[in-house]
Amino acid sequence: MSDRFSFWNMACRQLDRVAERMGLDPNIHAKMRHCQRSLVVSVPIRMDDGHVEVFEGYRVQHNSERGPTKGGVRYHPSVTLDEVKALAMLMTWKCAVIGLPYGGAKGGIVCDPSQMSLGEIERMTRRFTSEISIIIGPAKDIPAPDVNTNPQVMSWMMDTYSMTVGYAVPGVVTGKPVEIGGSEGRAEATGRGVATVMMAAAERLGLHPAQSTVAIQGFGNVGRSTAKFLHGKGFKITGVTDVGGGLFNPRGLDIPALLAHVQKSADRQIKGFGGGEYMEGHDAANARLLALPADILAPCALENQITADNAGAVKAKIIVEGANGPTTPEADEILAKAGVVVVPDILANAGGVTVSYFEWVQDLQANFWDEEVVNRSLDRLMMRSFQDVSDVAAREKCDLRTAAQMLAISRVAKAATLRGIYP
Ligand code: NAD
Repeated sequence: MSDRFSFWNMACRQLDRVAERMGLDPNIHAKMRHCQRSLVVSVPIRMDDGHVEVFEGYRVQHNSERGPTKGGVRYHPSVTLDEVKALAMLMTWKCAVIGLPYGGAKGGIVCDPSQMSLGEIERMTRRFTSEISIIIGPAKDIPAPDVNTNPQVMSWMMDTYSMTVGYAVPGVVTGKPVEIGGSEGRAEATGRGVATVMMAAAERLGLHPAQSTVAIQGFGNVGRSTAKFLHGKGFKITGVTDVGGGLFNPRGLDIPALLAHVQKSADRQIKGFGGGEYMEGHDAANARLLALPADILAPCALENQITADNAGAVKAKIIVEGANGPTTPEADEILAKAGVVVVPDILANAGGVTVSYFEWVQDLQANFWDEEVVNRSLDRLMMRSFQDVSDVAAREKCDLRTAAQMLAISRVAKAATLRGIYP
């Protein structure tokens, strides 16, 4: 992979830029530029037709200065070690921005789950969990759902790990169903957090929900729950896209009806919904979505979506990054010049890992909270973190991404200094 398209390279460049601005100790900077541990595993699976397919999987732990590492597991054909390393680094910053006692990790398998049966996905999940079980555990590294993984996948991971050690260990993964130690409020936590910081950012620009329009890229876990909360607050969602195409309605999409449609459709896609104009194909639909005259744009799909090639077309006043790494550094510069406020991923989508943290705490204590307590605690932490980041931005006269990274890196650096270098 060329450096230009390396997500890891992009994450390192962001770190370097902020480290220089902060005058970060070069020894600590050098340590942060490396992942602590990267495990590459092969995952052989007997497919339904009897032949054996071997998938490649990764688990990367970037930094554990502040506590056990934490991060999702992604099933996607374009997963690479480079991408997983970058996402692990982002998780380190994300946990530190919110003040969670975790470092960052990420995992993934190169596969196309849309072409696999449930049984094949289960066998792949179990073998992958077994392969990485030497480095995960409730006190070591705690996986969670990400793109194309869900509470069912987390149930299989929890069960496989528990069978290996001989007793139930709910705290080994988060994002589980509540019946086996999941938390109330986890499924929608990321979208709830995205909506919370979006409303705070909108308020600062004097945008009122009832008069504001939003475009959302991606209609999976994050995009759907973001849309649901925003619709509930009175925002008008004028466009959404998914892997198949896009839906547009300048008068606002009927989000509850669209959610019900997606829930019913076999492939969980927006295609076939009658309440808007459908555009086939994600490339064309995304290009149209990005250029919509909406007040707010929420990329909630994959990384590298807003680039130097299309950033100039963005008309939104605010971008709230529900996805991880959707904006390249080159696009950031173009957006900053155009006065677009970008609420960065490590703050905007931290609601998921925050409730994952609550889930882990509940599992360790075997003491479960009401949904109202979970949501209140989440809202409080998201608002506090938005304020912390805004304060740094005001003090340092910088954008929110730089401020969030400065805050996170300074917290990790402090932990690194206190702990020193072993031996
Ligand atoms: P998901 O698999 O539930 O949904 C992904 C969505 O993106 C689907 O609707 C899919 O159709 C759509 N999509 C895929 N390719 C697309 C494309 N080229 N154009 C438009 N849409 C496309 O995944 P998710 O859990 O919602 O994760 C989405 C993003 O949010 C990822 O970057 C992930 O790392 C990040 N994230 C997820 C969580 C979480 O709790 N699930 C937390 C923090 C961040």
